[in-house]
Amino acid sequence: MNTVAAKVQQGGGAEGQAAEEWRRPDGRAADELRPLRLEVGVLENAEGSAYGEQGRGKILVAVYGPTEVHPRHMEHVDRLTMLCRYHMAPFSTEERRRPQPTRRDIELSKVIREALEAAVLTERFPRSMLKIFIEVLEAAGGTRCLGITLASLALANAGIPMRDLVVGCAAGKYKGRIVLDLSEEEDKEGEADMAVAIMPSLNRIVLLQMDGELTREEFFQALDLAIEGCRRIHKMQVEAIKRKLQEGLALTPPTEEKE
Ligand code: ADP
Repeated sequence: MNTVAAKVQQGGGAEGQAAEEWRRPDGRAADELRPLRLEVGVLENAEGSAYGEQGRGKILVAVYGPTEVHPRHMEHVDRLTMLCRYHMAPFSTEERRRPQPTRRDIELSKVIREALEAAVLTERFPRSMLKIFIEVLEAAGGTRCLGITLASLALANAGIPMRDLVVGCAAGKYKGRIVLDLSEEEDKEGEADMAVAIMPSLNRIVLLQMDGELTREEFFQALDLAIEGCRRIHKMQVEAIKRKLQEGLALTPPTEEKE
């Protein structure tokens, strides 16, 4: 086991709380991810798409474009204009939500777009526009991170050239201990929640947000743990892309040999 996970499992960061009393609501180990499922290419009409489940959370992402830029004033002569819409469906939360975007939706759309823009080779598509739709079908904590992970899969599925995939994972503090991938319950009851997204091959952080309070040591422990979570999810992203490619190959009829 690597040092970050070992430290977290031993209860690094606990504030005088007996390890045996401490338990996560869903019984996970401190460094354990919720069950995660990633699927690429789930919609016929979108250029690229991806669907994912993380614990109870469910998100669908679709990518349209590149197309001409509308409205015209959003056009860049030297690069792609990227639009991103993070949206929680009215039925995605316990209490029905209004369908109109909230301040939070607008903020998340912006930070997710910026994280993805770091990876996309935008200079390859001057005077063009790409739209990314992130539809949260069921919210259960960590939706910005799963949204980013799926959006980068949908971009790959659409054939958009990227420097690297982008993958997100949260870590935080729940009842005195640093934990990976907080559920909604842990997010609400916990002391801190940190969302991180990285480009795993280039080793670059493209999103870092935090709610709550951590000591300096806890901050770096949570950051290391979130990055480790990203690396585990990245392996699943690659597997999901491979599965889709193999599916495509299986559907392609064998070419007849010419005499
Ligand atoms: P993230 O989903 O990226 O963790 P937040 O920390 O803002 O973002 O939200 C944590 C969780 O709280 C969400 O995943 C969702 O389950 C819940 N939540 C957020 N906003 C609302 C809302 N307006 N109504 C009901 N639940 C919400």
